[in-house]
Amino acid sequence: MARYIGPQCRLCRAENTKLFLKGERCHSAKCPISKKASPPGKGPRFRTKKMSDYGIQLREKQKLKRIFGMLEKQFKLTFEEAERQTGKTGENLISLLERRLDNIVYRMRFASSRKMARQLVSHGHILVNGKRVTISSYRVRENDVVEVQKKSQKLLGIKESLKEYTKSGAKPWLEVNPDEMKGKVVAVPRRSDVTDLEDINVQLIVELYSR
Ligand code: SF4
Repeated sequence: MARYIGPQCRLCRAENTKLFLKGERCHSAKCPISKKASPPGKGPRFRTKKMSDYGIQLREKQKLKRIFGMLEKQFKLTFEEAERQTGKTGENLISLLERRLDNIVYRMRFASSRKMARQLVSHGHILVNGKRVTISSYRVRENDVVEVQKKSQKLLGIKESLKEYTKSGAKPWLEVNPDEMKGKVVAVPRRSDVTDLEDINVQLIVELYSR
């Protein structure tokens, strides 16, 4: 599956907001957004022109897409699936994105960022219900058990990431046993559970794709 391999901070600079693509490192004073870095490229240092409605909707979609490290085609397919489900499309979209295996690995704190989580999955370090799954977009379901496979449990990166679990825990729809490096999806995440994405206006994304 194709993916963006350029600098992560460039994506935040393009959106002029912190997207927290590098996990804990994003809280350091070295974050270019904290230092008020200019947008990438050779254009004007700051966007001074008022953005059109289309521009505002597009930026919102780009933010969410970049947070989950997805390319347009995959993101659009997920949106279309959200649209086919009953209920509000925007809320369905967040729920579907949250159920991606790479995101769950990140939320269970086995990885310090979604990028690292994607690597863990694609390199075969993660089991779902006892079976190795190497597809980061794999959709987990309620009661699925996600774990770091035994021989990968000594990886320093995972141990470091799990220290974060002891500080702030996992999300309410997940149960994690950090000692066993294992967790269970106890419920399907709802939009209201995903508090760190509450700044994303999903309605703008729905309007963008309805054009
Ligand atoms: Fe974005 Fe993190 Fe880089 Fe800051 S440090 S610009 S939040 S990826």
